[in-house]
Amino acid sequence: MKQFQFNFSSKEGLNRELTKVKQWCNMGIVSHVVFQIFTETVDRDKISEVCGIIAENMPDAEYFGCSTNGNIISGCWSGSEISIVCTVFEYPTTKMKIMQYDLSEENSEEVTASLLKEVENNSWVKAIELVTTIKNMSMTGFCNGLSKAAENIQIFGGGAFSPDINDKSSIVFSKNNGFTDHGVVFRLLGGEGLHIISTYVTGWKPLGKVFHVTRSEGRRLYEVDGEPAYEVYRKYLNIKNDEHFFNHTLEFPFLYLHNGINILRAPTESMPDGSLIMTSDMESDVTAQLAYGDPGTILESVQEEGRKIYDFKPETVEIFSCAARRSFWGNTEISKESQPFQNIAPTSGFYTSGEFCRTNGHVNQHNVTMVLVGMREGDAPAGETAVLNVDDGEFTGKMALINRLANYINAAFRDLEEAAVTDGLTKLLNRAEIQRRIGERLRSGETMSLIMIDIDNFKSVNDTYGHNEGDNVIVGLAKMLRTGISVHDPNASAGRWGGEEFMVLMPYDLEFAVCAAREMCADFAALEFPLAGHRTISIGVTAAKPEDSLDELLIRVDSALYEAKHNGKNKFVAV
Ligand code: GH3
Ligand code: MG
Ligand code: MG
Repeated sequence: MKQFQFNFSSKEGLNRELTKVKQWCNMGIVSHVVFQIFTETVDRDKISEVCGIIAENMPDAEYFGCSTNGNIISGCWSGSEISIVCTVFEYPTTKMKIMQYDLSEENSEEVTASLLKEVENNSWVKAIELVTTIKNMSMTGFCNGLSKAAENIQIFGGGAFSPDINDKSSIVFSKNNGFTDHGVVFRLLGGEGLHIISTYVTGWKPLGKVFHVTRSEGRRLYEVDGEPAYEVYRKYLNIKNDEHFFNHTLEFPFLYLHNGINILRAPTESMPDGSLIMTSDMESDVTAQLAYGDPGTILESVQEEGRKIYDFKPETVEIFSCAARRSFWGNTEISKESQPFQNIAPTSGFYTSGEFCRTNGHVNQHNVTMVLVGMREGDAPAGETAVLNVDDGEFTGKMALINRLANYINAAFRDLEEAAVTDGLTKLLNRAEIQRRIGERLRSGETMSLIMIDIDNFKSVNDTYGHNEGDNVIVGLAKMLRTGISVHDPNASAGRWGGEEFMVLMPYDLEFAVCAAREMCADFAALEFPLAGHRTISIGVTAAKPEDSLDELLIRVDSALYEAKHNGKNKFVAV
């Protein structure tokens, strides 16, 4: 497979480039020639001129393309209005088919069903590439439809765009179906010798606080944690609701878990009611975090994820990168994240209004993301893989600072979260947290026993040896519980119920809990405190029953403990 990449400047220039392509094709075996036309203009006359010249020179070649927010050739933003990528497939077994459909929210189910029928009828298909108009459309149905394709088929592509990020006009086109401003072009690729790999990278990393999306409809995010969504940007980032809103929030998009992977969504607009228009659909009732992007961290991620493409040893690399990344980096820096791929294979693509990539079976619409596709005909050549070298030299200073600050926030946040559920003296869970966990386990219906512990005659320790020694005894018991329980089961939890009372959640049946209680009595009695010497504990044990309410369960374990006290202390009672 061979690829030619060039910018369109004039008819003569294009004719010259096409002559080179024809010469190459005449020299060897050619199975398919396809032109991808990436255009920063939606001017159909201009694009038609290019298409016409190609059709005239190479009547058998296919072509398709779309309007973009910038074109990538030779691994860099081309800076040219129209860029052209010509791929010559050389294996006789390689197959390709291009199809175009009108697309709207209403017909996306029909479109994907019709496409998948075609894919089923062509068992050679290994990948579906797509360029599509998006505008204000919800692509959720479209993605769900595509996700029904056989598991082994890769799906990737990008949303057409306009050179102006605030302008919604966009088009896609293909040789057979011409132009449309509401459509999708699919390219089916496959055949025995054609190998394709696709992956994606963002580089944006989550920050501390976990938010709950309480109300979202399609692309409109109404409420987060029960407050107008804009409040998150005002309160935590001090971003004003002015004309720079989009640029500022872009550095801090929301990151949320969707189909098991992290997806980014940036606000594009803030509405008077405090809701936000997001780059794509978001669901209600999901958790989300703000994410931060900084050049060093992003390049580090590109280097990490890019390895997959390098190791694949592709003959061509295709990139669908979000227009938001281009505005984040600016025109002089944007190529830093795509150029490294040009070192292994001709790299081309465009800046998109949405990036599509199939992961774990699901086709996801990403934002602020770079989708990477490697292709090759035949086996990978033997020998060492080249080293992917991202030029992050000038960002390391900045990376150090922003990364360290983000690290500080995340670490401090974890401390706070932990402090909120921990008892200060014993470092065990506090009562609220152990009770919450008991309630949660009870609702899950899984096996659980409770062990409630109270130190015997504890008041006399305080009275005789002072409050400090009392604390020593409490801490001693807590320590014993912590180590004893983690030996039994990391899923067991111990908490301080109050004063010198403790509660242990055992994810086991009564028999197991009884053994643990017996051990606890013996182990505690064996401890020796500096002044108080040997002390004892009493224990109540019970197992949760399916019909238990939380109150019933807690009362039962409490009365078992009471019985142990009543029967002479230093013992356990199981009910
Ligand atoms: P029993 O054997 O029946 O359990 O008798 P007891 O003396 O252990 O029980 P009681 O509930 O009468 O006394 C508990 C005492 O624990 C009362 C309280 O002052 C003391 N206490 C509660 N929290 C702490 C603490 O954090 N540190 C210390 N040193 N004492 C505490
Ligand atoms: Mg007590
Ligand atoms: Mg006591």
